[in-house]
Amino acid sequence: MLVLKFGGTSVGSVESMINVKNIINDGKKKVVVLSAMSGTTNALVNISELLKQNNAEEAVVLLDQLHQTYKNTIDQLITNPTFNAEVNAYVSNIFEVLTQNTNNEYNRLTYNTFVAQGERLSTYIFTRYLHQEGIDACLISALDFMRIDKTNEPDNFYIQQNLNRILFENSESQIYITQGFICRDADGNIANLQRGGSDYTATIIGAILKAEEVQIWTDIDGFHNNDPRFVENTTAISNLSFDESAELAYFGAKILHPQTVMPVSAFDIPVRLKNTMSPNAHGTLITNQVHGEGIKAIAAKDGITAIKIKSARMLLAHGFLKKVFEIFERYETSIDMITTSEIAVSLTIDNTTYLQDIVNELNAFAHVEVDDFMSIVCLVGNAIVYHPDTPNLFQILQDVNVRMISYGGSNNNISLLINTSDKVETLKKLQRYVFENNQVLV
Ligand code: ADP
Ligand code: ASP
Ligand code: MG
Repeated sequence: MLVLKFGGTSVGSVESMINVKNIINDGKKKVVVLSAMSGTTNALVNISELLKQNNAEEAVVLLDQLHQTYKNTIDQLITNPTFNAEVNAYVSNIFEVLTQNTNNEYNRLTYNTFVAQGERLSTYIFTRYLHQEGIDACLISALDFMRIDKTNEPDNFYIQQNLNRILFENSESQIYITQGFICRDADGNIANLQRGGSDYTATIIGAILKAEEVQIWTDIDGFHNNDPRFVENTTAISNLSFDESAELAYFGAKILHPQTVMPVSAFDIPVRLKNTMSPNAHGTLITNQVHGEGIKAIAAKDGITAIKIKSARMLLAHGFLKKVFEIFERYETSIDMITTSEIAVSLTIDNTTYLQDIVNELNAFAHVEVDDFMSIVCLVGNAIVYHPDTPNLFQILQDVNVRMISYGGSNNNISLLINTSDKVETLKKLQRYVFENNQVLV
């Protein structure tokens, strides 16, 4: 069994959907995970934000606009009149229900319900398009098998039982289409795997089914060595290890949801990144094999807050770090980077929900300074810590205000904390020296 996931742009236009049809129609048994058409989830997030602000009127206007774009796409893609009428009726019903919901009181479930509709729309339209083209495909609802537990982790037992049952009940099918991103929570309410979560859906399914391979089809020819949104001349990396890609995804490489490789790495199921617009390009193969040495890729994560905790009594005070960590644990706030000196410990977080409570508790025994609008730049590659040229890296960055450096925590990662305003320049500088001039590191 193969699992293929197609992202927003891969199903974002009629032309792209035709490409997807051609890619999946090869006679091999597969699960196809689809995201929402590009722009839809953002639009639904905006609509839900308006509802939160009690602006139902504007929300209805945006819903109508979104509905209109769907009508246009359906009319271009679904040309058979019977199919067209049926798909339009299905889609209109979704928009009608959402419009009725705009009168209800806003809560977390409102957001979860609204953002889930993009994947319901794309999978239904695409499945019926395949049927129109005479391709046998079975639409299976992620809401019938994908579930997270109370700690927001995939409920693997539940998923396995239900997914296998559904596949068994439809065993004559070759192509199963399902929604990425959406799931149910432990109480059975509609929920999701966080933004970009369709990648994660694909690998959760891949691990449960012990798939031959999970393919993530997107709008670029694989994992690039730097962020192509900010840096020119980035190039695709042909091979990455699970660890390398996990670090890069966690530290901001948007091409993969941060948790993507976790479910499959334990079973050594390869993940292949491919370009829907250029299916013959090699892409990136992610396995447990480590290739090459030195810096392989750079990524950056924004929205980081740095907390410096100073205590004159810290020196020789065993138990100090324990006390600090216990506070973060109590507020379920994870720490990304940490550095220590004799009198202070600096650390970073990206979830500031409980920042004020954390600071209040720390203030009881230390002096606390908080800086926001920071970014972590992460350099990843095999054995970079041992590479003789790595120390030169810090010379390149001498005119960048580097607040923290994490070096040696693992052999394949160096992280730098900088101001977000310096991020693009830092990424460009590293690109030039590390990959283009080859002056510093191989
Ligand atoms: P999809 O909708 O298919 O899931 P995403 O937008 O989530 O696509 O991810 C693909 C995008 O990620 C690319 O178009 C690119 O702009 C961005 N990106 C950021 N960092 C990287 C990287 N290191 N390699 C490739 N793409 C990256
Ligand atoms: N549609 C969802 C999002 O935009 C999930 C995904 O694209 O992976 O976040
Ligand atoms: Mg994505």
